[in-house]
Amino acid sequence: MIADLVVRGGTLVTSGGLRRAGVAISEGVIVAVDRDDAMPEARETIDAGGLHVLPGVIDTHVHLRDPGVLEREDWLSGTRAAAAGGLTTILEMPIAIPPVHTAAILRERAALVAPKSLVDFGLYAGASGDNLQDIEAMAAAGAVAFKTFRTDPVPGREEEFIGICCPDAGEMLAVMERTARTGLLHVVHAEDQDILNLTTARARAGGPRDGRAHAAARPPVTEVASVAQCIALAAATTARLQIAHVSHPGAVALIADAKARGVSVTAETCPHYLMFTEEALEHWGPYAKCNPPLRTREAQDRLWEAVADGQIDVIGTDHSPFLAREKGPRAGDIWSAPPGLPGLEEFLPLMLTAVRQGRLTLPQLVRLVCETPARLFGLWPRKGAISAGADGDLTITDAEATHVHDHARLYTKARDTALLYDGMTFHGRPLVTVVRGRVVMRSGDVVGEPGWGRWVGPH
Ligand SMILES: [Zn+2]
Repeated sequence: MIADLVVRGGTLVTSGGLRRAGVAISEGVIVAVDRDDAMPEARETIDAGGLHVLPGVIDTHVHLRDPGVLEREDWLSGTRAAAAGGLTTILEMPIAIPPVHTAAILRERAALVAPKSLVDFGLYAGASGDNLQDIEAMAAAGAVAFKTFRTDPVPGREEEFIGICCPDAGEMLAVMERTARTGLLHVVHAEDQDILNLTTARARAGGPRDGRAHAAARPPVTEVASVAQCIALAAATTARLQIAHVSHPGAVALIADAKARGVSVTAETCPHYLMFTEEALEHWGPYAKCNPPLRTREAQDRLWEAVADGQIDVIGTDHSPFLAREKGPRAGDIWSAPPGLPGLEEFLPLMLTAVRQGRLTLPQLVRLVCETPARLFGLWPRKGAISAGADGDLTITDAEATHVHDHARLYTKARDTALLYDGMTFHGRPLVTVVRGRVVMRSGDVVGEPGWGRWVGPH
């Protein structure tokens, strides 16, 4: 047998540990994982000596928003950024124009973006009181999971959020009864709109309009109260709840307690909550604005503990591209700036740097960004594993590579808003990204072709 690709000399990383082995891929699928000297001949060989070979990394939380405002990002620029960042599969949220809230729109979106995609992708479907009747059809059509915001739409962007927002608790109960029937994961943006109405009004009333005001407008109680309610609804409906972008230890504690009681609930956090605090909001203003907001140093320390002890299940980027002119000047009006940060290309360098600093181990990282995402979203063992029969997705990383972040070198169209990472020194970076046996990024250069990426789902 002659394989299409053999990766030899590297150290394979799984949640179980590290070992020296080669990987052979043919026709997009892993055909052998064995000693280097037992590898078959191959048309292409990668010498991974001194490097780590991870299962292809899955980003559980991405907003490319194509079709939509393509100046912010399109599927090609976004998946080029993903490939550059070492990501082999991205799970795209339903926000777009139109947002994914019917089975027909889901299928149309897949057909539209697949020809532009460098990496594999799954598509979330929105679930709210507006589209209760469509929920099971969207699951049947191949949705990877459901997404609901417990808030109103971002003002001015209502057309991007149809079928996604559900602040009303009674309506949410009905929505979760439906998503429970599908068996798919139901990912929730948990901030309580009623509490936000009070806290944002207080923060806006004559107070400062600088970055810290954003954190004051959305204090931890807005998140923690919503998480508590979502857990109660999950327990009552047996929906498979995942809390998106957990930013505060109060939410972590509720989720851990609910898990112990047998409730199906998991936690996602994002790199920016692990790397930045309210101080970044003060310094970078709109360029550090995201929802929920960056928290205190103490909250951040406890979030790291939750990552290290397994209470956080997955880490996703929440990559949310905007234009610098939409964000406005650094010292500008924090209220009018849109919330969201880019992060596809910073994700793995940040996490590998954290490994270097001893905050988590490589096997823990693989569990958080490969194995558990694949299991929760129904993609295991096709994705997330290095084993015979799995898709030939690999993320090869160099722990020794050091670079200083420069936003101008990013592939994302949102590069001019990636300011808060600038000047940071990363220790470790993805060196090669392999999607189903094909190299799509090598040494930072994206070499993949649009259309290679495929729509994947639990179907
Ligand atoms: Zn998001």
